[in-house]
Amino acid sequence: MAWEDDPEPGVTVERPVPDIARRPLAFSFSGKAPRPARYAPGSDEFRYWTTAEALRRGADFWSKFVPAGQWQVGPILKVLRDEGADLNAYYDRKALNFFHGQGPKGTVYSGESPDIACHEMGHAILDSIKPQLWDAASDEIAAFHEGFADISAILSALQLPSLRAAILADTKGQLYRNSRLSRLAEQLGSAIRMSHPDLVDPDSLRNAVNSFTYVDPLTLPQSAPASHLSSEAHSFSRVISGAVFESMAGLLTAKAKKPASPSSDELLQTSNDIAAILVAAIRQAPVVPNFYAQVAAIMVVEAGKLNPDYAAALKGVFVRRSILSLHSATHVEALHSSVAAARRAGVAGTADGGDGLRLAALPAGNYGLAKPLFVQTASHHRPYLAQGGRPLNDVCEPPSSTTAARSFADDLFRRGSVAYHAASGVEYRLDNHRAAKTHQLVKVPGGHRLERRMFECGFCFGGTFSRSRHGQDKGRKNDKAPKDRNRRS
Ligand SMILES: [Zn+2]
Repeated sequence: MAWEDDPEPGVTVERPVPDIARRPLAFSFSGKAPRPARYAPGSDEFRYWTTAEALRRGADFWSKFVPAGQWQVGPILKVLRDEGADLNAYYDRKALNFFHGQGPKGTVYSGESPDIACHEMGHAILDSIKPQLWDAASDEIAAFHEGFADISAILSALQLPSLRAAILADTKGQLYRNSRLSRLAEQLGSAIRMSHPDLVDPDSLRNAVNSFTYVDPLTLPQSAPASHLSSEAHSFSRVISGAVFESMAGLLTAKAKKPASPSSDELLQTSNDIAAILVAAIRQAPVVPNFYAQVAAIMVVEAGKLNPDYAAALKGVFVRRSILSLHSATHVEALHSSVAAARRAGVAGTADGGDGLRLAALPAGNYGLAKPLFVQTASHHRPYLAQGGRPLNDVCEPPSSTTAARSFADDLFRRGSVAYHAASGVEYRLDNHRAAKTHQLVKVPGGHRLERRMFECGFCFGGTFSRSRHGQDKGRKNDKAPKDRNRRS
């Protein structure tokens, strides 16, 4: 027995015993596995099997879309079920890390929520599909990672027949409606709302039914209440997760024999179709600052290969949300096929200019650093221009990769998300001991390099939660990256 989607709605489902060690995409859990049995909610044994069931189900769903057949870290991904007191969870290219904290009705274990488990696993899936996104210095790319992770939670949930039936009944066949499926991580949302009511949605951590439209994140503040958009990754992710969820609803209507009442099987097939379209687009998309438009444009092309009605549905969503300009949406298929034809004829050169992303040196005095800061820029070659839209003159001109990188670094330092280690004297730092350190400075010849340490669930600022797990920066004596995060003070 396990939770269907989250402990707060509290719906359980009977499931076969999951084999976490099965390949591809195997897991290894911290601690000893309890004997498989029917345990009561609230027990550690129930939590163990609910996390195992959610991760196995999610990884089985995604495994057909992961070309290498393994995690970025190798064939087995570690799962640390409870790393201490914090309302958080993260993926750090070593393991999926979960925590516990106080909620309004008692202790909340982040790993107990299938929504959160499959969100964190989504980061690991995307990291194996497109590892260049990990360290690309761009607010939009960091936000894409978060959006994909939320979509991972939704698509993993849809693999449960009982949940599909419940959602089709609750939404009367209109998938893009507020439901238990669109409301992500309700229990963690309630726990965070107790101390920081404006940081999360009123009914969940984030809701994939939302009306946010695209604007260049360079024009947004670095943080904002949940009702507004900011350049912070979880906030800005809602533009793409909402668009993909709405797209899936459009695909379901196009696929269903009776569009007003789609069947559970049609919903299952649609979850596979949207994942195939999304992953194909991600694999082809150049890593550039306006990554949303690149993925959206190729999704339109890939959707058209499956079903012409799919392409029309996606164009409608992406234009409505300004992720694609009117011009990009209407011209993408012609541009894409022209480039493909030119490549086949040897006219258009190499496919993507290689996988490498260029480093750029940023002047770093503003960050309290004496020497330049090197960042990995979102600098792939663009085979053609795909742009977001905006009112009046339609197109949103993308920033250069260096401008996007500078804005990304500025935002990180403003939020206090960078562990300095010994890169600068304490008196010169812009520090915020309450912020999780998602990034760190590593000494390189000529300066320091900005490196990502983790994707975390992102709502743990506020000082009420333990910071020890996030590498509180205590002025380390050297610049070496910490070997064991958990041993840091
Ligand atoms: Zn995340």
